Amino acid sequence: MSAESSNKTGLDALEKRLSEDLSLLELPAKSWVPARQYNGAPVRDVVVIGGGMCGLAATAKLILSGIDNVVAYDAAPAGLEGPWVTFARMETLRSPKTLHGPALGLPQLTFRAWFTAQWGAEAWASLDKIPKNQWMDYLIWYRQVLALPVRNNVRMTGISAAGDLIALDLDGAESSRVYTRHLVLATGRSGLGGFAVPEFLQGVDRSLWSHSADDIDFTALRGKRLAVIGAGASSMDNAAAALESGAGSVDLLIRRKEMPRINKMTGIGSQGVVHGMHLLPDAWKWKFVDYTNTTQTPPPRSSTLRVSRHANARFLLNCGIKTVNEEAGELLIDTTQGPLRYDFLVAATGFTNDFNGRPEFAAIAPHIRTWADGRYTPEMGAPRPGMLASPDLGPGFEFRERISGSCPMLAKIHCFNDAAMLTHGKVSGDIPAVSAGADRLVRGIASALFADDVDTHFASLVAYDIPELLGDEWTDSTPQLQKDNAL
Ligand SMILES: Cc1cc2nc3c(=O)[nH]c(=O)nc-3n(C[C@H](O)[C@H](O)[C@H](O)COP(=O)(O)OP(=O)(O)OC[C@H]3O[C@@H](n4cnc5c(N)ncnc54)[C@H](O)[C@@H]3O)c2cc1C
Repeated sequence: MSAESSNKTGLDALEKRLSEDLSLLELPAKSWVPARQYNGAPVRDVVVIGGGMCGLAATAKLILSGIDNVVAYDAAPAGLEGPWVTFARMETLRSPKTLHGPALGLPQLTFRAWFTAQWGAEAWASLDKIPKNQWMDYLIWYRQVLALPVRNNVRMTGISAAGDLIALDLDGAESSRVYTRHLVLATGRSGLGGFAVPEFLQGVDRSLWSHSADDIDFTALRGKRLAVIGAGASSMDNAAAALESGAGSVDLLIRRKEMPRINKMTGIGSQGVVHGMHLLPDAWKWKFVDYTNTTQTPPPRSSTLRVSRHANARFLLNCGIKTVNEEAGELLIDTTQGPLRYDFLVAATGFTNDFNGRPEFAAIAPHIRTWADGRYTPEMGAPRPGMLASPDLGPGFEFRERISGSCPMLAKIHCFNDAAMLTHGKVSGDIPAVSAGADRLVRGIASALFADDVDTHFASLVAYDIPELLGDEWTDSTPQLQKDNAL
């Protein structure tokens, strides 16, 4: 038997076990949400925007919970959702291979089960970290084995209210308007705001710099002098990709005097953090996020070594950037260490939650309540702009209105992405706790849908008339008792 067919046999067996487990657990649960129409058009119970890891986990959890009139849309072609095989330039995931990620409590749905079914326990034991492309292959299988209704090449371009429903404008493979009762924004790290671009890069010609999440042609940088801003994982990955493609030199321009070395939040990771963080008083939430933002997450050791093994790579610490100017087709960067000249720059400067930068959110952006709108108070600590811009979410990840009554549909729009972190902890962005996040999200949506339809559910209760007892199971002994008493 070839390795390929033995992998296929292993995967078939896994899929059979998964199907048996689902049957034992009576999953998916029976469909229970009453159908709705809007002016004759069908209405979805939930539309999920984004078919990356969070979108898949949310869609799967909804369907398993009997909310099955659901669809997910993703602007990317199938198999290219999220960063993994597009702009992620690391070799492996940072996360340990054992994380059960989006498996939703189903052992046969884990990466480990998928991997071992195909390559065996020995290969699993010798696997160090998960290659990023393999993680994407796993997510493709996850979607396929659960038959998740994801439609690719469809971009959501606009949100508006339609009575008590939400109307979504779609563009691409499906260009139409669809109606939904709830909307989940599983739009990823760049999906609420976009790239965070420092002030000193505003106005600099885009032919001379890229953001680390851009589609960068590294072969075009062969022999060139490259600057990479930042000391995080993406800085290392982009620097390494450039060096491996033959860049002439790569300087990492790092404002800090020291590299961050300790991955603090991973260090204290526990089910307490997963389930307890979102219930803490706001001051504690602020304190945790502020502390970890200040101490920063180090780049993985392997990614850092992937850069430092090149003699033409330099780590320039304590090197803050004052200005960036174009001079005769090259970049002149004035730094706290003096002037430096480059041919190209990569800004590994992360993402922002500023909804105002995204046209598809134009209708809701001005109404979204953020932590700056009263949830933050100065006693919590310094007013960090990035944190103040975080949406102030409800218990089911739903947005809240800045001014009561100004945009009621926000209560049915759920922010299931990285921007939820300050309110909900890290359960809607990274791999470790995404199943817990999907569970919390779906509980919120299920209870809202149930409450919204309570009249219908009560009417169903009253109308339900299928007897469990047929009347032949007992006889009424009262007449005999009355006779006995009369004697
Ligand atoms: C380079 C990189 C490496 C990472 N490595 C790790 C790691 O090792 N471990 C870990 O735990 N986490 C890691 N993460 C963090 C996290 O796991 C990933 O960001 C992950 O992709 C989050 O999944 P997501 O579904 O939230 O977003 P994404 O995977 O980014 O998916 C969002 C999807 O939404 C779609 N979309 C956005 N807007 C629209 C729209 N208007 N219409 C239609 N579709 C839209 C996009 O096309 C995209 O496919 C990494 C992140 C990055 C960027």
